[in-house]
Amino acid sequence: MRVQLCGVRGSTSAPGAEFVRYGGHTSCVAVAHDQDVVPTLILDAGSGLRQVTPLLAGRAFSGTILLTHLHWDHVHGLPFFRAGDRDDAQVTVLLPDQQHEASAEAVLERGMSPPHFPIRPRDLLGAWTFGTISPGRLAAEGFTVEAREIPHKGGRTFGYRISDGRSVLAYLPDHCPTSLGPGPSGWGEYHDAAVELAAGADVLMHDAQLLEQEVAAEAAFGHAAGAYAVGLGAVAGARQVLLFHHKPDRTDDELDKLGSRLSGGPVPVTVAAQGETLSL
Ligand SMILES: [Zn+2]
Ligand SMILES: [Zn+2]
Repeated sequence: MRVQLCGVRGSTSAPGAEFVRYGGHTSCVAVAHDQDVVPTLILDAGSGLRQVTPLLAGRAFSGTILLTHLHWDHVHGLPFFRAGDRDDAQVTVLLPDQQHEASAEAVLERGMSPPHFPIRPRDLLGAWTFGTISPGRLAAEGFTVEAREIPHKGGRTFGYRISDGRSVLAYLPDHCPTSLGPGPSGWGEYHDAAVELAAGADVLMHDAQLLEQEVAAEAAFGHAAGAYAVGLGAVAGARQVLLFHHKPDRTDDELDKLGSRLSGGPVPVTVAAQGETLSL
């Protein structure tokens, strides 16, 4: 599969000269089958969703957008997705079942409707459908997706394990493992859902919002340290860890330092940068 990083930032966008190398757009990853020219599966719809339109080279998007959860940094790109907001687009949006709440469309509309935003999800051009998913296995765009609920903060959140039958991408952009305890390292518990999603994955793309020294004061906001991501990769036998969902004020130079400090361990580690393509 081909994995294109269209937004790697967490919480809110990060414009400015100190952020140009790793990029300022919030979470969005476009996934394509090897043989396909264009992506058909999109993970999260942060502001990075705008970067998917050029990948489609003038075509309308036809495929599925899989949301891990509904925080702003994972949905605010939806109305700015030009390749999806046109008459010939066909878009399926899937999000975690909210349990006792309204339909997928109604839940999205709470954040995307006047007075918060001028239009509603149903006002997007093209054929858009909205649905919820439960933990378990589903098929989407020729991929097999395993969904598991993982701890975060303020809203049900899933991690995903995506396979094309040959390669596996584990995607856990927002994850608060310390909410289940300190674990062996102090950076959070290596709990079953996280380990099973990441088991033997070619790439584990994981929340790296915090530095170790920030965990005590800031983990309650719902995120993990990069060191936890590396530990999880080692425990789960992942082949590579990709640090993702960078804190919005983490500069390029600081991310360089993070990457070099965490590399050289049991698992190869790289720092996700907007615009990169991974071939798995
Ligand atoms: Zn986030
Ligand atoms: Zn979140």
